[in-house]
Amino acid sequence: MEIVFATNNEHKLKEIRDILGNSINIRSLMDIDCFEEIPEEQDSLEGNARQKAEFVYKKFGKNCFADDTGLEVDALDGRPGVHSARYAGPEQDAQKNINKLLEEMQGKTNRRARFKTVISLFLNDMYYTFEGCIEGEIQKTPSGSDGFGYDPVFRPIGYERSFAQMPLKEKNKISHRAVATSKLAIFLSKQV
Ligand code: IMP
Repeated sequence: MEIVFATNNEHKLKEIRDILGNSINIRSLMDIDCFEEIPEEQDSLEGNARQKAEFVYKKFGKNCFADDTGLEVDALDGRPGVHSARYAGPEQDAQKNINKLLEEMQGKTNRRARFKTVISLFLNDMYYTFEGCIEGEIQKTPSGSDGFGYDPVFRPIGYERSFAQMPLKEKNKISHRAVATSKLAIFLSKQV
């Protein structure tokens, strides 16, 4: 079976290919000559994931899935949420996003937060979604240098270290994306 993952992010492609093995041929946007910017204009993670997957499914006529991730902070009423990438501005600067988050969290005692990933799949005229989530807390100061995005300030519940202090292998076993990706992989492996 061949299926498009609506991304060109090498890390994401490797992650899903590692989980799926050789049974399913995962193709990137580049692989199918899709070079245009796919719109992401919705106000929910599922809305954006669906929009990206549907764009490819309709325009290229290929089975396709797409993902979208956000960090939901309870003390900020779920922000930055669907706006996580551009929280501090359109330049998508991780350091600026972290600074803004820490500023907004000043004086907040409830530091509970979670990363959420939604994967939307269009497969043979059917639509499916898969969700992954990891609960954690926003640290008062950043620590660690691995990972990306908000990793230096996110400490998963039950762990002593931030995501940015964990070896990637360890993070990838428990992360929001790993959980959603595993659910997708189990589903796809039953289709072949
Ligand atoms: P995307 O939907 O995977 O592009 O994620 C949107 C934004 O969420 C990213 O630009 C990051 O700011 C943040 N994000 C997603 N996944 C992670 C993660 O594993 N660690 C830290 N930040 C993340």
